[in-house]
Amino acid sequence: MFTCSSCKLQLSVNSFDADPLNPGQPLYYFCMSCSDKYRIDGVMVNCTVCHRSLPSHYFQHYRTRFKKDGMRLRVNRNCKDCSSKESAIVAQLKRANKAPNYLTKCPLCERIVYEKSEDIPDGINATNGPWQCDHDHNTKKFRGYICKPCNVGVSGDLAAYQRNAPAWKGE
Ligand SMILES: [Zn+2]
Ligand SMILES: [Zn+2]
Ligand SMILES: [Zn+2]
Repeated sequence: MFTCSSCKLQLSVNSFDADPLNPGQPLYYFCMSCSDKYRIDGVMVNCTVCHRSLPSHYFQHYRTRFKKDGMRLRVNRNCKDCSSKESAIVAQLKRANKAPNYLTKCPLCERIVYEKSEDIPDGINATNGPWQCDHDHNTKKFRGYICKPCNVGVSGDLAAYQRNAPAWKGE
């Protein structure tokens, strides 16, 4: 049992964020529920999807990444409601549309997609998965599977990407 420095309760290790390097040990001595209560800013945040202004705890925060002031870092500005709607849509699209094989081309950047970035042989201009199920956020329509870098928006400078993106996005 470990004592939470904040609520002073004696708790099992499962009540704490685990230390990845020392299994069975808490990463720090405040429990997860104290972390949720006291380590998330009390500010209002605008959701980028539904545009509601909501208290910070409506947004996902990293459990073990902190800002300089000791408060937990926010993962993104999609509120809990929008995030769960989004994951339900993606799960459904993934069931209905099978991901392509690896070692085939990404339809946006036209590079060969390896499963992991470590799999890409030296000196080869390729990209990596896992394949990302892409859909139109307004119409919810399935667009197709694209590589990870294209999905997070770091392939934007590539000529092939610029050629393919407008039609892909229906612009
Ligand atoms: Zn506590
Ligand atoms: Zn929202
Ligand atoms: Zn790509």
